[in-house]
Amino acid sequence: MVDFREATIRGQAPDKGLYFPMQIPQLSSSFFEALPSLDKTALVLQVMKPYVGETIDAISLEQIVAETVEFDFPLVKINEEIYSLELFHGPTLAFKDVGARFMSRCLGYFSKAAYNKTTVLVATSGDTGGAVANGFLGVDGVEVIILYPSGKVSPVQELQLTTCGLNIKALEVAGSFDDCQAMVKDAFMDADLNGHLSLTSANSINIARWLPQQLYYFFAWQQWYQMGFRTAPVISVPCGNFGNLCAGLMAYASGLPLQQFIAACNINDAVPEYLRTANYQPKTAIPTISNAMDVGSPSNFVRILELFAKDHQKMAATIAGYSISDELTQQTIATVYEQDGYILDPHGAVAYQALLQYQSAHPSAKGMILETAHPVKFPETVEAAIGKKIPIPESVLPLFQQTKKSIPMQANFAALKDWLMAE
Ligand SMILES: *Cc1c(COP(=O)(O)O)cnc(C)c1O
Repeated sequence: MVDFREATIRGQAPDKGLYFPMQIPQLSSSFFEALPSLDKTALVLQVMKPYVGETIDAISLEQIVAETVEFDFPLVKINEEIYSLELFHGPTLAFKDVGARFMSRCLGYFSKAAYNKTTVLVATSGDTGGAVANGFLGVDGVEVIILYPSGKVSPVQELQLTTCGLNIKALEVAGSFDDCQAMVKDAFMDADLNGHLSLTSANSINIARWLPQQLYYFFAWQQWYQMGFRTAPVISVPCGNFGNLCAGLMAYASGLPLQQFIAACNINDAVPEYLRTANYQPKTAIPTISNAMDVGSPSNFVRILELFAKDHQKMAATIAGYSISDELTQQTIATVYEQDGYILDPHGAVAYQALLQYQSAHPSAKGMILETAHPVKFPETVEAAIGKKIPIPESVLPLFQQTKKSIPMQANFAALKDWLMAE
């Protein structure tokens, strides 16, 4: 058993398993009575405190959580049946900002007490890199090294992860996202490297990145209630590594009243297949237009299994799985824009289409999607679907004035190791 501090610093357990809470905190009835009008910082503190325990002092924790959620998470109506919880109002326009900000601040706090510099090594298919770079920028005692596949991230994503400078370095790998991920995995296993650097990961394997994502579901419920709904919502979550959905399940297990979860996937459908057949077959990832969800073997699936004590029936009753093709995703972006004037990004569109299909079997079910990224991060796909340019949010404009600074890297571990040993 380890505490929050040790689990955060290590990222992954020495036996290569994932950390999981010994107990899931049960929130009190007075918490839920207050929830409809609870202020954001108080809400976040009460949800996160049982996980953090005594590892962070009260004043520091309050500051960390306040900074973690210092932007909006609005619930927006798309039409009568479907709402959108917009999780893209953070600094890098994707939901990963919350986890990255929380983790970076916790790690910064813990490394103040340590003498060693911590090196965060992370592979990205696009959004993780920007969120982690932004979250860790300027954090003392932590260096961040991001591996991204050359030519396979969008222009906004590339600028977000290559223009930070300071303690952030971007390695532009001549290969695929899978290559980047394999190189990072090899680095964590390599004895020489681990003797030379104190390495940790910053993907949703790390509990400090994973657990704060449950806050979205509390924000969702609060606004749903404030809008006058008295029946719990169905929540459709675009899934890749399943960190976000699994965090929602933690909120649910802590007592948050939700009606149903939807695991919305692209054609990378290992989990929907499991829900349908009780047979789990991890696969090789297939590239799609919702590329942050191109995961063939989702890391957080083991946590979901743990949460349901491997009871397939119970899991299948709580989570409905859907797999949506690229063609239908593109069509959904076009239709929703035409009908409702709302611009979905490809990941949100997968969630929308999955919820629509669920609702055709359950006509009275109202709900929401988690809109995980701003459409401007995927301009080619979205602009082709809606037939016009996406208005660029003002916060992004300064990025286009900056120059990309990346370090070219061959797609093999030996090259990465040489470079890291010289660090
Ligand atoms: C990372 C990401 C996802 C997938 O989230 P998981 O927690 O890995 O399931 C979905 N949408 C976007 C835009 C993302 O960046």
